[in-house]
Amino acid sequence: MVNAPLDETPPTAPGTAEADWQQWGMNLPAFSLDGCRRIVVVTPHPDDEILGIGGLLSTGASSGIAVDVVSVTDGEAARMPWRNESPTELAAVRRAEVARALVTVGVGIPPVRLRRPDGRVADFERELARELVPHLSTPDTWCFTTWRHDGHPDHEATSRACASACEETGARLVEFPVWMWHWATPGHPRVPWDRARTFPLGTLHLHAKREAVACFASQLSGPPGEEIVPPHVLAHLVRNTETVFV
Ligand SMILES: [Zn+2]
Repeated sequence: MVNAPLDETPPTAPGTAEADWQQWGMNLPAFSLDGCRRIVVVTPHPDDEILGIGGLLSTGASSGIAVDVVSVTDGEAARMPWRNESPTELAAVRRAEVARALVTVGVGIPPVRLRRPDGRVADFERELARELVPHLSTPDTWCFTTWRHDGHPDHEATSRACASACEETGARLVEFPVWMWHWATPGHPRVPWDRARTFPLGTLHLHAKREAVACFASQLSGPPGEEIVPPHVLAHLVRNTETVFV
């Protein structure tokens, strides 16, 4: 199963401690936005763009790079029995959260919504690839998306659809991990460390990212241990660097 890692290490499991990643040190080559004129970040759920590369988006937006966001789903299927919203209501909550978060990192345009069903992106992968083509056709566009082996089926299907669309348009594909930090371990053989690059965040951009992350109350709050993104997972995503696969 391509989604085995999260099946084996669900979010409620302790996973790899952030201290272990910090101790490992990583020592990756740097990633630069030089030559990028437009960023299109395509994410399966409204929060992945900020959790994965919110600081990079803040940096790009502040240096005049056009940033567009495409939300493949509205994230309506997140299971939170302690909340009373219907899926439609939850989708509205999450759309509002991501719109606020994007403004916080300097991206004023709300995401384009593709309204694919949360949890079932793989069923629509081919249509999704076709649908993404017009979004990725401007010259010098860099398409950022979740990593194709991130361990969550929607993250992986979205990534594969982006790869296919980029092949057609010539856009540069850059992937970023979200759940990998939780289930993988330093030096893990499933992770393409040779393609990994680090993007250091300046103080202002790190601060903007952390403020943006706080907009996702629906995902960060809940009974202790049952949050969708629990504190031990979030710890990996608010570092002073972000990691991408080139
Ligand atoms: Zn996600």
